Amino acid sequence: MSTVLDRLGERLAVLRASKRYRQWRVRLGPAGRIFRFEGRDILAFASNDYLGLAADRRLIAAAAAAAERWGVGAGASHALGGHSALHAELETQLAAFVGAEDALLFSTGYMANIGLVTALAGRGETVFADRRNHASLIDAVRLAGATQRRYRDLQQLTALLAETPRTRGEKLIISDAVFSMDGDIAPLAPMHQLANEHDAWLLIDDAHGFGVLGPQGRGSLLAAGLRPAGRCLLMVTLGKAAGVAGAFVAGDRLVIAWLRQKARSAIYTTAQPPLLAATVLTALPLLAAADAERAHLAQLIERLRQRLVPIAAQIGWRLGDSPTPIQPLIVGGDEEVLALAEALLAAGIWVPAIRPPTVPEGSARLRISLSALHTAEDIDRLLAQLERLSGESQPHRDGVSIP
Ligand code: PMP
Repeated sequence: MSTVLDRLGERLAVLRASKRYRQWRVRLGPAGRIFRFEGRDILAFASNDYLGLAADRRLIAAAAAAAERWGVGAGASHALGGHSALHAELETQLAAFVGAEDALLFSTGYMANIGLVTALAGRGETVFADRRNHASLIDAVRLAGATQRRYRDLQQLTALLAETPRTRGEKLIISDAVFSMDGDIAPLAPMHQLANEHDAWLLIDDAHGFGVLGPQGRGSLLAAGLRPAGRCLLMVTLGKAAGVAGAFVAGDRLVIAWLRQKARSAIYTTAQPPLLAATVLTALPLLAAADAERAHLAQLIERLRQRLVPIAAQIGWRLGDSPTPIQPLIVGGDEEVLALAEALLAAGIWVPAIRPPTVPEGSARLRISLSALHTAEDIDRLLAQLERLSGESQPHRDGVSIP
């Protein structure tokens, strides 16, 4: 008789055999352009630390000073005394930074999406969700128990909204602003217009646009001439360009007041350590002033794309059409992308291989993630290795390439 443990072991073995097993490498130092793995320094294109703030000395000093003054743990949930003056000040500043009336902090972006969606949607509601949304948004809709209509593009969203009767409960349109595995930007202005026409909520996850896009890095909404106001709500993570951890939702006072009452992942959890709030407060003006870093990042993106598009085309790979630091090199097969990532690692370069179910079947990819910490020489080194490896592979036949 097999046991629960035996059966779980078999399921793990299946994952391994199908090349879907995820191996976590242990990093031995801070995030940066170099990751130290097992005593080896590797040039990394893997972090979301787009502006290089994650190990910035000024932020480290702010964290240390705040730990001295406030301790390391918040000690209680926000509602029961854990909401420090630092948290309150941060909410005020974040709201102002993105042009909203108010904001609510969460401990992670995953929790923010869960709390936001479940507070606004339940069984009677219909959620219109982009097919490529982040896992946290997908999980949030499932948890909410709302009806989910997934759309491929603006045209399908328009059609789905039109065929859903007004009497069926509220409508919510939910989307990443910058798609996390593709790097392209959702058509925010027409989506905003659709939301208004259909009296639907518009929930935008700007994990990868905040700090990178828009004036002073204020994010994708502002870049599109929009603000988190009225029906439009913005979720931003603070562990990517802001370099720290946590997240916030911004919108009208009324909406944030509702979330404070109903977002369970903000209520039933220990407040984030105040030292992290202090660190984000220090990061915010640095992020706003990082125009030189954003310009440098734009040059790196341009440099990579100019040479990688033709290299990829020759071999039957495809560089996704992305204007952001997330540059997906779509290779196709799982084994092929793993072999490519391994070969790069052997050459001292770390680019994560992304496989289904994170991306659709047959679209396994290298997710090249650029940071302002990278130099032009770093990009050239990556390009030289990709060019070499593409020369060692055979061009695709019927969409399948042979390594
Ligand atoms: N949304 C998107 C689009 C993301 O890429 C991520 C992080 N991978 C999250 C939400 C979750 O944010 P956090 O890492 O703060 O939980």
